Amino acid sequence: MSRLIRAVINTQALRHNLRIIRQRAAGARVMAVVKANAYGHGLVATALALPGVDAFAVARLEEALALRAAGVMTPIVLLEGVFTAEQLQESARHGLELVVHDALQIELLERMSGAHRFVLWLKIDTGMNRLGFRPAQFAAALARVRSLRPAPLEVRLLTHLACADARDNAMTQRQLALFRDAIRGLTRPVSIANSAGLFGTLPLQCDWVRPGLALYGASPFADCDAAALDLRPVMTLTSSVIAVRDVARGETVGYGAAWQAGRDSRIAIVAAGYGDGIPRNLAEGTPVLINGQRAPLAGRVSMDMIGVDVTGLEQVQVGTPAVLWGEGLPVEEVARHAGTIPYELLCSVSQRVPIELG
Ligand SMILES: *Cc1c(COP(=O)(O)O)cnc(C)c1O
Repeated sequence: MSRLIRAVINTQALRHNLRIIRQRAAGARVMAVVKANAYGHGLVATALALPGVDAFAVARLEEALALRAAGVMTPIVLLEGVFTAEQLQESARHGLELVVHDALQIELLERMSGAHRFVLWLKIDTGMNRLGFRPAQFAAALARVRSLRPAPLEVRLLTHLACADARDNAMTQRQLALFRDAIRGLTRPVSIANSAGLFGTLPLQCDWVRPGLALYGASPFADCDAAALDLRPVMTLTSSVIAVRDVARGETVGYGAAWQAGRDSRIAIVAAGYGDGIPRNLAEGTPVLINGQRAPLAGRVSMDMIGVDVTGLEQVQVGTPAVLWGEGLPVEEVARHAGTIPYELLCSVSQRVPIELG
């Protein structure tokens, strides 16, 4: 029996994507976003496969500590900053860089004893309305941060775009104008672009870019696939056929008898289900690669299995490889069949799926 579901990580593709990002970034430094277990690719393995980046970015302290525990000495930015004095101390101990988006975080820094000098990333909310100081509060926040003692090692500035995946979006233009106004006259390093900002059409001159999705070889745009951006898929989620059966016209497959054979059919059962992170709402007809050939999903996704209509395909038997997404089948395409975005599929690969470097 060949092996069941696993996420095979192509580290060459990862490094290729980093090269493309560097070209696109035209000299800007690259903060590789590895939050959410590196978008499901494995936090530590991904970071170790990217020795050349200028910094890593994570959402939570625990993710940063896991990187440090694995010996990663690259700068690490906490994108949400810290929320308690203990987290602040821990960040100092491990040399983490902090996003500061709220007055409470400045208070924590003011109250901190000790001589640690942080690199701080002051966040300006230019319309995302999630994290950050509004432009009107920004100057005061910057003044407070600058008067911290000991002084921060450096204060950098960032904002986040709400609609960067829509090309030439008016919202993006407004956000950029607000950002430029807010930082006028300041010569501090700035960061704006996520993957969509980086590969979009608007010039976002900045000193740092913050790609996540593009690193993993998926396109942030609905109207443009990763290959057109010269990005290669890093994760291939692969499994095997564990049973093959013939069903007569009129018979049904799976829960709810939701799929009915319109002709005499051959169904391959593949060991991959929502317990592995395959969305249960994948539409009938979603492509699966069986032996490298596209075949449509037949019936509902079960916890551990799916059915695939392999009628007419040659040499499908127990052990035949099946690819859910990755090389040959973009995760963006599968995401569309689930009514979601590639981010969610990648992050949802469950803990029980082993990650393998390929
Ligand atoms: C997640 C995140 C990114 C990366 O976004 P992608 O769309 O995956 O490139 C960049 N910046 C911030 C603040 C983020 O939270």
